[in-house]
Amino acid sequence: MEPIVEGKVKTVYQGVDPEQVLIHYHDKVTAGNGEKEDYPEGKGKINNEISCIIFKELEKAGIKTHFIQYAGPALMRCKKVDIIPIEVVVRNYADGSIVRQTTIPKYTKFNPPLIEFYLKDDDKNDPLLTEDRLHIMGYRQLHQYKQYAREVNVVVSGLFEKIGIALIDFKIEFGVTADGLVVVADEISPDGCRLLAEGDKSMDKDLFRKGEGDIITAYSSILKSLQEIVNI
Ligand code: UDP
Repeated sequence: MEPIVEGKVKTVYQGVDPEQVLIHYHDKVTAGNGEKEDYPEGKGKINNEISCIIFKELEKAGIKTHFIQYAGPALMRCKKVDIIPIEVVVRNYADGSIVRQTTIPKYTKFNPPLIEFYLKDDDKNDPLLTEDRLHIMGYRQLHQYKQYAREVNVVVSGLFEKIGIALIDFKIEFGVTADGLVVVADEISPDGCRLLAEGDKSMDKDLFRKGEGDIITAYSSILKSLQEIVNI
């Protein structure tokens, strides 16, 4: 199979159906725009399964996504989309770049959640965008992206709350299907979320970014807890 996109931790292959793709999640983790990387065994399978559970819950809640079905270990069948090169970050509490770049104290609660847009461009280091800049760049559907992001946040933070984990912040990407529909795309997994368990324990990629723990242990425990609640 010929890859159509090779990302940092995933490869997208053309499906047999021209309107479908297969996404392969690799046993790989990167941080700092690819400056730091590792190859934890089993990570692709775990992230794929977590992402499948989350996309299924979004679909159940009536939110349109690119997800079609689980397609085997580390494989997800999805609708083929054109990815919109904007990363949408939802923040329920302050952490990460907003704490580094502002005077807002860590874990300040945002109610309503903050929704921010970043350019998806590694060469430019994914800069934060203003609404005026987005407007000039031709993005006229910001209110729609914001509304979708809020709806996704309600479902995903609710899901994590059920397993005793606070969703501090997370990143989503949107794509456009062949028939012009904007859907939630890419993956939603601990790689793109900040997740805090009891005792302020990180359960996400910050463990790898900061060298503070084993992501496989944390991600596996999240998967196990999610499987328990969705099977009820
Ligand atoms: N994030 C991501 N990909 C990126 C940038 C951010 O998945 O290229 C996620 C990140 O994991 C966190 C949230 O978006 O859950 C907010 O990230 P932040 O702006 O705080 O940047 P960071 O501190 O991670 O550099």
